[in-house]
Amino acid sequence: MAEEAADWRRRYDALLARHEAAEARWEALRGALVRLASRLALAAHGIDPRLDEALESVRARLRGELDPEALERETAALAALLRELAEPAAGGERAGRVSREEPPAPPGPPPAPPAPGGPRRGLLARLFGRGGAGTEAGGGELQALRAGIERLVEALPADAGLSSRAESLRAEVREAADAPALARVLAGAAELLGEAGRRLERERAELEGFLAQLDDRLQELDGFVRSQDEAREAAREDGRALDEAVRGHVEGIEDSLREAHDLAALRRAVGERLEHVREHLARFREREEARYRQAREEAERLRGRIDALEREAAGLRERLREEREQALTDPLTGLPNRLAYEERIAQEHARWKRFATPLSLVVVDVDHFKAINDRYGHRAGDKVLRALGRLLRGRLRETDLAARYGGEEFVLVLPGADREAATAVAEQIREAVAGYGFHHQGEPVRVTVSCGVAAFGEGDTPERVFERADAALYAAKAAGRDCVRAG
Ligand code: GH3
Ligand code: MG
Ligand code: MG
Repeated sequence: MAEEAADWRRRYDALLARHEAAEARWEALRGALVRLASRLALAAHGIDPRLDEALESVRARLRGELDPEALERETAALAALLRELAEPAAGGERAGRVSREEPPAPPGPPPAPPAPGGPRRGLLARLFGRGGAGTEAGGGELQALRAGIERLVEALPADAGLSSRAESLRAEVREAADAPALARVLAGAAELLGEAGRRLERERAELEGFLAQLDDRLQELDGFVRSQDEAREAAREDGRALDEAVRGHVEGIEDSLREAHDLAALRRAVGERLEHVREHLARFREREEARYRQAREEAERLRGRIDALEREAAGLRERLREEREQALTDPLTGLPNRLAYEERIAQEHARWKRFATPLSLVVVDVDHFKAINDRYGHRAGDKVLRALGRLLRGRLRETDLAARYGGEEFVLVLPGADREAATAVAEQIREAVAGYGFHHQGEPVRVTVSCGVAAFGEGDTPERVFERADAALYAAKAAGRDCVRAG
């Protein structure tokens, strides 16, 4: 049974490694993208300053910390710009464009190799890394596994297919009392992680496909620009040839006039010359028309493709946005989850260090929640948590954050609130919960919370402040619960 757990742990680790491999692939993809953007920047240099700028910003984006949303925004802007640039004025001529006949401007510094960007941890590694499934063997292992699974389950994408499985796993984790039960949960979790991994892969494949498409379209656009330049050059050449031919015939007519002996011969000679000129003109016009038609067709085709690309980019952007939102939301309460809290507190901590405006944390924990579950069932317990989520959201300011930290524990981030103000907020919340009037099947259910408050002070880190708030919560529990303590 311990063996079974260890076996699953190995599989869990193997899956995690697979995710790391996927991350590595993503890095390789990013490198390819940087090269692609650099190559494009080189090829497109001087076509339009805005295009240079857009390509440069995509390149810079790819070299830095990856932000898919920003990247999509920028590639969408790039696509829009390309579309605009692909739009030819009638006749294929565009005003204000730098001619290709001019000596090419120096292409700027050679493309830099993709910067390593520091040790970027994979999303999943970031989520499960701390504590993970534990490495030490023995008695603490069960607890470590439990914590690891809790975090894994919490971190799983909350979309339709996975969330219900994740939810039942969450309940199983809570109830798993021994190693075999935990091993079963771990098996389920590993399966889910695999599924989540496949989804991640699919997402990446989609992104890769999209980028390949983008590359194709950009090459097409490049080809189009070149063919337009060639067509213009051919038209100029044709015009010169026509000019020469007409001039030659006009000279011929002048000669005929000078040398003419009789009117009939003169008429014949001039007639022939004029016929030649007409032929030249007709041929020139035909070729012009063909060039114009071809340019128009090509531009239309290209526009259609760039339109499709834009639609694709919009869809991809939307999916990425949804994914991100799901990754940061607790499915039960709809509140931001622990990951969202960690992101936010890191931001607020940075702001606090810079501007030194007060910043406080409140940890809110339901009193004797286990008893509520035992007495009324888990579903009733879940209903209480959802109601608490609504209550917290409704009572805080726009700039505050209420997150479900885990289980029946919530954390509030209160920017601008010092220890006293945060204590007052916690007291209001405590009072509101106590007076809320929960019911289960007509029967009143007493629900109270205890709160621990701590404010940021000299040299503090989010972890230390959280620990103080947690210790204050413990003091509130010890003091009889349904009360607030500040650390
Ligand atoms: P205390 O006053 O000391 O906080 O007691 P408690 O019973 O609230 O604390 P304990 O940590 O012993 O129990 C927490 C319980 O919360 C155990 C767990 O089953 C339950 N729980 C955690 N998450 C959920 C959830 O999502 N839904 C439900 N229904 N129960 C949950
Ligand atoms: Mg509790
Ligand atoms: Mg608790």
